Amino acid sequence: MKIVLIICDGLGDRPIKDIGFRTPLEASRKPSMDFIAANGICGIMDPIAPGVRPGSAPAHLAIFGYNPYECYRGRGVFEALGLGVDVKPGDLTFRVNLATVDGNLTVIDRRAGRIGSDDSSMLFRLLNEELRIPGVEVYFYPGVEHRGVLVIRGEGLSWMVSDTDPERDGASISMCRPLDESIEARRTAELVNRISIDAHRILSKSEVNRRRASEGKLQANAILVRGASFYEHVSRIDERYGLKACCIAGGPLYKGVARYLGMDVIEVKGATGTYESDFKAKVEACTRSLENYDLVYLHFKATDLAGEDGNYRRKIEMIERIDDALYRIIDRVEDCIITLTADHSTPCSIRTHSADPVPVAIAGPDIRVDDVGRFEERLCAKGGLNRIRGLDLMPILLDVANLTHKYGA
Ligand code: ZN
Repeated sequence: MKIVLIICDGLGDRPIKDIGFRTPLEASRKPSMDFIAANGICGIMDPIAPGVRPGSAPAHLAIFGYNPYECYRGRGVFEALGLGVDVKPGDLTFRVNLATVDGNLTVIDRRAGRIGSDDSSMLFRLLNEELRIPGVEVYFYPGVEHRGVLVIRGEGLSWMVSDTDPERDGASISMCRPLDESIEARRTAELVNRISIDAHRILSKSEVNRRRASEGKLQANAILVRGASFYEHVSRIDERYGLKACCIAGGPLYKGVARYLGMDVIEVKGATGTYESDFKAKVEACTRSLENYDLVYLHFKATDLAGEDGNYRRKIEMIERIDDALYRIIDRVEDCIITLTADHSTPCSIRTHSADPVPVAIAGPDIRVDDVGRFEERLCAKGGLNRIRGLDLMPILLDVANLTHKYGA
């Protein structure tokens, strides 16, 4: 039996006064999602634990059955893996922005005027050529526009260090500080500050920035790092469950989590992790992947973006568009386990993640279907799954797919 795991990012929400105290899910027309709920067993899920507001990466780890308290060591590693960077156990990774600073190291623009990927790639390459720090290897990898990844490889490093990104324009670049008492954290903070100073020196005298200045563009003369992260070795998902698994996602973070767990990443044209992403192409790729894979993880980011924008109309629109795309897969409940859930709630009212549990529905043959007929937060709470944690989901899916073994005799 094959398993499809559909995760709509940040899907859960809270009642919104303007739409009659309904949540965006409750206010949406979504026949495909409701079909999965009506033909499945439903419940609500605390991705990590009740009251814990999950980041997307630790929530995903938990949902795939990996205890985030044991293996989550920061976000940067997943961003790096998502960009296809060959990260190795022990590597320290950061997310990095190219930014514009003035002579006092005050940030003028955290995104260097939304520098294009061409200039940004050239500047990251220059840093790789010229920046040398004794005792460690330092690599920069360009991402989209001003974004990239920094990897520091060497002995005696720690991920318990603070960001240098002040998170707003008009503030000075922050000093990287140790977040615990260890020698490793102190040494790492010193290294990061040294890299930051050297990068500023190298970028300031670069040919690319001379040209940008002559064109009246903001110079990308500094780096801002955040999300220090360690690569912690975990067993691959195929070793753990005996399932060949793949991921269909647009956002680098989600591809990164999938690669971290040893899943294949299926690249889909038009899958961008934005509002404009081609949801239908993703669902079609999901259907095709069921021929070669036992577990297909299908991720949609747009619901979370709308929550973070505080835009409930957008969230409803995204739910309905995703629902329309899911129409192509729901008839597979006859021979597959189709699971629909979220990695956390992103209520429009607070524009960030909350600990409100998310709805979950599991449909497929031989399922103990309950009375819940619609995929909504409050209705699913009345379903036969009751309230579970993220770590419970994979064992339940393996059981209903008859892929698990008896405990004891
Ligand atoms: Zn998320």
